[in-house]
Amino acid sequence: MEKTPSLDSYRKMQSVLGTPLAALKGVGPKIAEKLSKKGLSTVGDALAFLPIRHEDRSRLTPIKNLAEGQPASFRGELRRLEVRYYRRRRVLEGVVFDGTGAVTLKWFHGKFEWLVKKYPAGSSVVAYGVVNYFNGGREVIHPDLEIEDAPAAGEMESVVPVYSEVEGVHPKVLRKIMRQAVEGASMHLVGVVPPALYPLCGVDEGYLRYPGAAYRELHFPSSQGEALSEGIERARKAVALGEFFLLELTLLRRRSGEKSAEGIAFRPDFSLIRPLLKTLPFELTGAQKRVLSEIRRDMESALPMLRLLQGDVGSGKTLVALIASLMAAESGYQGAVMAPTEVLAEQHYRNFLRLLDGLPARVELLTGSTTQRERDRISGALALGEVEIIVGTHALIQPDVSFKNLGLAVVDEQHRFGVMQRVALAQKRRGKGVPDLLVMTATPIPRTLSMTVYGDLDLSVIDEMPPGRAPVKTTVVGKAGYQKVCDFIRAEVKKGRQAYVVFPLVEESEKSELKAAVETSRHFSEEVFPDLRVGLLHGRMNSAEKEAALGAFSRGETDILVSTTVIEVGIDVKNATVMAVEHAERFGLSQLHQLRGRVGRGGGESYCFLLVGGPVSGDARERLSIMAATNDGFRIAEEDLKIRGPGDFLGTRQSGLPELKIGNILTDGVLLERARGVAAELLKGDPALEDPANSVLRAILREGGLSRASLVASG
Ligand code: ADP
Ligand code: MG
Repeated sequence: MEKTPSLDSYRKMQSVLGTPLAALKGVGPKIAEKLSKKGLSTVGDALAFLPIRHEDRSRLTPIKNLAEGQPASFRGELRRLEVRYYRRRRVLEGVVFDGTGAVTLKWFHGKFEWLVKKYPAGSSVVAYGVVNYFNGGREVIHPDLEIEDAPAAGEMESVVPVYSEVEGVHPKVLRKIMRQAVEGASMHLVGVVPPALYPLCGVDEGYLRYPGAAYRELHFPSSQGEALSEGIERARKAVALGEFFLLELTLLRRRSGEKSAEGIAFRPDFSLIRPLLKTLPFELTGAQKRVLSEIRRDMESALPMLRLLQGDVGSGKTLVALIASLMAAESGYQGAVMAPTEVLAEQHYRNFLRLLDGLPARVELLTGSTTQRERDRISGALALGEVEIIVGTHALIQPDVSFKNLGLAVVDEQHRFGVMQRVALAQKRRGKGVPDLLVMTATPIPRTLSMTVYGDLDLSVIDEMPPGRAPVKTTVVGKAGYQKVCDFIRAEVKKGRQAYVVFPLVEESEKSELKAAVETSRHFSEEVFPDLRVGLLHGRMNSAEKEAALGAFSRGETDILVSTTVIEVGIDVKNATVMAVEHAERFGLSQLHQLRGRVGRGGGESYCFLLVGGPVSGDARERLSIMAATNDGFRIAEEDLKIRGPGDFLGTRQSGLPELKIGNILTDGVLLERARGVAAELLKGDPALEDPANSVLRAILREGGLSRASLVASG
């Protein structure tokens, strides 16, 4: 049996990684300061600071052989470097000559004076960049450029790491520092995956055992030529796997902690649900039935439910939430449904009232604008158990709200809530048993991402829309098309349909925001549609005003609802068939998808117009064309993820999870799944990590020290 690292060696590693870079040879206070501006303070930081690429100096291309359109490295003498003017445009221009030919280097922006000083004419340089053919010559725009010094004795390296520039630290100096840090630390890095599990990892076992070797390869590769990128990738995979392993271990442990608590075994008798289903004017979809049976299984079990319900906009999650709440109510418990906005909470409340009409289940609403008297009354009724279902916003988790016996917490549109709130709601219990938790989201989360962000939740997916939904026809419209869109809206209204006009708020202050909203609605009601009934909804209205505006629209008393994005989530008016979004270029993809999801709910043909009001960036253009191309929420979410990156996509930054340094959850899906399997396998044998062989892992998890430990996650 191979030995796993001891706690002592782990402690030693921690202290090595925590060593300030200032303690290294050649790092004085000045350089240390420059490094720390780049986020490099300790040896551990340095290890995680991977080269952006490697330059294989054994493979420099003679200038005459530089191929068009290809990135390449070449070496030569810098003949001159000076600022020139082309039609008043300042360009920094230089020439590199190597005996076989010449290349022009060009910079269009940057600190020209500084560059001229840094690269004196006559120096021997190594340059890297994409070669263009231009006016019969070769040129490279914005090359990476470095003065080449003769290699120090014994340092005939041919593969050189190229690090992202640290201002004020010469690349050569930086490389020396990195070399010291990597070499010094590498022998102290301990692997964290137990050797018995290596075969499940599918990565280089040597690197799992000696993560230091992987880090050396990542920075100062031993491979070169053809094998270079493959060699580096092999090392990176091993490190990433270890990183994912610790992440998944954290999630699985957190989950088993919550799960091992004593939950509630609900015993629904369907005395409320059956009559509800009878009065519904439709059948549940197959997907709704399936997720309900998954939820029911969890609720009937004595373990606490921790489940994520994912379903595209309009797929019928609200009804699922109601039925789940009724399962709690029928079992003598209370259900709480928490929505991200007041408008949405009010709408859920109204819907629930309507659906439960005549049934012995009392529903109440509690939001930030509930008056204190109301609040006291509702709170009292909740504490006495007279309320079966409470709908609300985060006002529900204030300390003065107490339940008699909260059994189920449903959190809608989770990604707007922090994890803390989720926990706070789950902890609102008095009696025995942790309440079940159901988190609902309309954002289809790509699997690899949900494994990290929601890795501690079970997943239910509504992958089927209620019948009669036609895809919403989506058109991107420029200024010139505005009038046509207005005419179109008028024609739809004449047919008895309704329309939304949504606009973004750009103003900074609340006051000007209000003015803009009011002004826009006046513009629409008096100038554009003087003949139609125009309502207004915006975030600065109080809740009674909002409810009135929304109520009037849903009863068909207004034809057009001019609104800010407060309608973004969950509003449900079947008769609305047009969604016009002003300044659509300013909205994010998921917002546009949510907005568009407000129409196309009644079976009639529906339309979405994305009005473009100003200059459009490349990203915005891409967003708009994705919207025009597809109605598929899953595809949209994936594109969104690509454009924004995982951190922004779901607010993972607030999820309390460590940032991954080497692994990439977007592109390393296979590794991530494998790491999850490895972590699960480990916990199967040693659920509480009590085995002395796992003492290092226990220490890492207990200390929440993933960020530091993830450095050595490779083994
Ligand atoms: P989500 O919250 O998932 O965006 P909703 O719960 O608001 O979607 O549902 C959208 C609309 O579809 C609501 O009007 C709801 O009454 C209706 N609906 C829900 N389930 C069904 C079904 N099985 N068949 C037909 N319509 C349904
Ligand atoms: Mg909803």
